[in-house]
Amino acid sequence: MAELDNLDVKILTHLLDNSRKSFNEIAKSCLTSVPTVNSRVNRLLELGIIKKFTIDIDNARIGITEAVLIVNATPNAINRVAEELMALEEVKELYVTSDSDTAIVSRIAGDMQRLSGIQDRIDLTGVNNIRVINVKTQFKKDTTIPLSSSSLTLTCAFCSKKVNGEAVRKKFDSKDYFFCCNTCRGEFEKRYIKLLEKA
Ligand SMILES: [Zn+2]
Repeated sequence: MAELDNLDVKILTHLLDNSRKSFNEIAKSCLTSVPTVNSRVNRLLELGIIKKFTIDIDNARIGITEAVLIVNATPNAINRVAEELMALEEVKELYVTSDSDTAIVSRIAGDMQRLSGIQDRIDLTGVNNIRVINVKTQFKKDTTIPLSSSSLTLTCAFCSKKVNGEAVRKKFDSKDYFFCCNTCRGEFEKRYIKLLEKA
């Protein structure tokens, strides 16, 4: 597994927020140089950590409905049904849960009529129940980096010690800062507010 440091995490956080953000802007925000950001991004690409630069489309604006599909099926049928569903372009995400009661949970998107007719396009043998539930409000898409991941080497923004275990993340002025504990976060916050008052 690749080791990431604070700068890698900061760069990734910026690009997750907006993959078209300029290296100049990222470098300024991370207090580093454009060539450094450039070489870090290249390294992240080479390591396959950044898989692609993509866009986030507002489906509602182009008439695409998003829904959740829940399928309850017998254990024998589950894998076959999952495979059939995965072949449909409307299926965006699919989970087979370990709970035998709600065996498939899937995020689907597409034309509303096609979504509500999804059950007509698969073999329903062994399927006890199939439901398409329209999404009223947008999906929560959490693209933040899970900090408990052992591959991250973070240092505390207040005491500079290496963070062991879970880091405390806090945004100040839309920038992410990481701390070893809540005490450090609190102290940093006090100092930060003082700096703001002086400015
Ligand atoms: Zn600390």
